[in-house]
Amino acid sequence: MTVRVGVIGGGQLARMMIAPAVELGLDIRVLAEDEGMSAQLAATAVGDYRDLETVRAFANDVDVITFDHEHVPQEVLRALVADGAQVHPGPDALQYAQDKLVMRARLAELGVPQPDWAPVRDADELQRFIDEHNGGAVVKTPRGGYDGKGVRVVRSGAEAADWFDAAAGEALLVEELVSFRRELAQQIARRPSGDMAAYPVVETVQRDGVCAEVIAPAPDTTERLVEVAEQIGRRIAEGIGVTGMLAVELFETDDERILVNELAMRPHNSGHWSQDGAVTGQFEQHLRAVADLPLGGTEPRQPWTVMINILGGPQDGTLAERFAPAMQQHPEAKIHTYGKAPRPGRKVGHVNVSGDDLDDVAYIARVTASLFL
Ligand code: ADP
Repeated sequence: MTVRVGVIGGGQLARMMIAPAVELGLDIRVLAEDEGMSAQLAATAVGDYRDLETVRAFANDVDVITFDHEHVPQEVLRALVADGAQVHPGPDALQYAQDKLVMRARLAELGVPQPDWAPVRDADELQRFIDEHNGGAVVKTPRGGYDGKGVRVVRSGAEAADWFDAAAGEALLVEELVSFRRELAQQIARRPSGDMAAYPVVETVQRDGVCAEVIAPAPDTTERLVEVAEQIGRRIAEGIGVTGMLAVELFETDDERILVNELAMRPHNSGHWSQDGAVTGQFEQHLRAVADLPLGGTEPRQPWTVMINILGGPQDGTLAERFAPAMQQHPEAKIHTYGKAPRPGRKVGHVNVSGDDLDDVAYIARVTASLFL
């Protein structure tokens, strides 16, 4: 019998699950927020993912529920589980991707290395933390942040006064301002049965809080670093019982420590390289994991893959017009677009290039992506 996988959310991550679902013989259906979303090709329903009856009606027609994003409320998720639905990842795991304070507390229990942190309720508490941490800190809204929104570097408690007002007594998360050499990401897939498959750790480059580039595997890494990153990924995946893809965002500090920044429980931008650069792409792997099928190989197909995000898109004209010239000039580049209208800073696509020479690969990937701007 064909397994029906229902994806909540119609963004580009749902869109990129469609092709591998077809290849795996899965029947993929999407509950999209609106008409005309990235994943509209598979959208069998349009509605509000916060509304239990909408989600329940969608879940009734599928065998497994998974996600394009982490925003489905806990009450809705728990009601689905109580109905007997297969939800992957489940609400117990997803809570750690929904609330950064809950995540920090759990990672502390698991003994995973992370920045110093604390919940803070007012400017005075924040000021005390700053005074104890070299005069600087990073304040985060525990819920609803993405792409650097909800993250602010502060040097005094007063600089977060507006956020404390908006939080109305709820705690914010404060973290030490980590002096990092670079950012890394560890991807790992986990099946309901507990089987796991880890990808090689990658380097991610953020600009203005948004992922701009990924180099896979991370260059200049010692064997120890690769092992530590994988062990952290395994400990978290097991410790929180995630099912599907888990991305662990990491800092590599100037003094060679690895600290966990945050978690994503779905395919993640830092794993897009694997679509063309690994034996099994992360979208296929996510589907295998949530459908409880054997996981695929995670080895790189080529020594290097570089992923460049297309941010914003062309200021005039459409992405589609840029396709043919880009393909003509760089036949080795793999171009992925999300069917989204260009808008400054918006993720509208990405380019993957693989090969033997990192400088060449990075150059071709960057030039190809720039042809879409
Ligand atoms: P988002 O959920 O918006 O992606 P993150 O918590 O990942 O937010 O933070 C976004 C970026 O801010 C990170 O990629 C990193 O560059 C920077 N950042 C976050 N936390 C810290 C920290 N404790 N110290 C230094 N930089 C940080």
